[in-house]
Amino acid sequence: MPTLSMLNPFAFSGAEISSDQQKQETLAELFSLTPHLAATAGMMLAAISAAMAGAEWSAVIALATVLISLAVRAALQWHYIRRDADLLQKVWAYRFVAGSLFSCASYGTAGSVLLMGATQGTQLLVVAVACAIAQGVAARAYMMPGTAVFNLLLILGPISAAAFLDGTYLMVPAAVIYLGFLISFIVMMVKLRLRQLKAERLSETLLEQILEKNSELENANARLAVLATTDSLTGLANRRQLDDRLASSLRLAAENRMPLSLLLIDVDHFKLFNDTYGHQTGDACLKKVAATLASCNWVEGSLVARYGGEEFAVLMPGAGSTEALRAAEQARVAVKLMDISSLAGSPPRQTISIGALSLEPNEKTTTDELLRRADRALYQAKQNGRNRVSASEEARDTDLSTSDHAAGLG
Ligand code: GH3
Ligand code: MG
Ligand code: MG
Repeated sequence: MPTLSMLNPFAFSGAEISSDQQKQETLAELFSLTPHLAATAGMMLAAISAAMAGAEWSAVIALATVLISLAVRAALQWHYIRRDADLLQKVWAYRFVAGSLFSCASYGTAGSVLLMGATQGTQLLVVAVACAIAQGVAARAYMMPGTAVFNLLLILGPISAAAFLDGTYLMVPAAVIYLGFLISFIVMMVKLRLRQLKAERLSETLLEQILEKNSELENANARLAVLATTDSLTGLANRRQLDDRLASSLRLAAENRMPLSLLLIDVDHFKLFNDTYGHQTGDACLKKVAATLASCNWVEGSLVARYGGEEFAVLMPGAGSTEALRAAEQARVAVKLMDISSLAGSPPRQTISIGALSLEPNEKTTTDELLRRADRALYQAKQNGRNRVSASEEARDTDLSTSDHAAGLG
């Protein structure tokens, strides 16, 4: 804030770098009645001293002046507290400046009236109270320094003039020196205020940036978490997610004595498919198989995953063998009926083989054991001619295979 603009009585220091909130807080502080109660009390003491020394009229005039001023400030504060939120801050700044100049003119007038022709004791009291008020004005001047400088002139001017007229000539240079001291104090306070506002602005900006970066980081982490558990070709859950869910579902099923089913699904003769139609058509076919498997009507809470290569897995917590075999058979038929003729080279229909394991695990059952037994059932399905479902029973692996023949699909 350049020194000259400090003399503008309507200017807030650092208005250009203050937020609306900071301006509101500044105004609320400026409208506070407390300093005026203290100033009025001081002037009342000086008036009592004058009255006791016989200057009753001076005391009455001074007392009336400061009480009117206090009433005006109280009314102003009352209106400020009940202000219309839409009313501009500027309007309230003007009202504050008017009220503030009026108060200080009242203190100056009351002080000078009390000082003229008074006893030494009263004069001492008036000067002490005037200095205290001036000090209070200077201490709050960092908010609106221009108003404060005018206020100091309104207090010290009439009092030093009255002292001069009363014969205490040295009061004028003393007031000038005192004013100079207070102004240098105000300049220092304004500098500190500007530094504080800049620091607050900087910390707000930094906080906003940190919050923004944090939310970007959270989004990136969420995307990363999805990527880390998703298969990029098919969009299904990947092996990592399957392993995690298999372990947790196994634990839960063992604890609650609940059944659990696992299907291992392998695309038939896929090497030949790739050799015939090319790897890219192979990829497109795997995507179609994945989408068909994902859209099957699995029991609630099932997880369809890409196990690796041209193999898929379906984990069905809570499902017994009847439900698992029915769902597996539906999936086999769905893939067989899948239309892949639009893929490059117009391949015919594609089939899958499924190994199904259903059991009620105990605490000793391991995920390796589940996968090994489901894989053995899958091997059985391949051995028995592919395009079929083979079930692995608790005690021994059996070929309870369902196939096109059994399903009547030929
Ligand atoms: P089987 O019926 O006994 O399962 O015969 P298969 O030919 O399907 O089995 P094999 O294990 O001999 O070959 C699997 C093929 O799957 C070989 C490999 O190139 C292909 N494959 C594995 N992953 C992918 C993939 O991501 N994209 C493509 N296009 N092919 C894949
Ligand atoms: Mg395979
Ligand atoms: Mg295969």
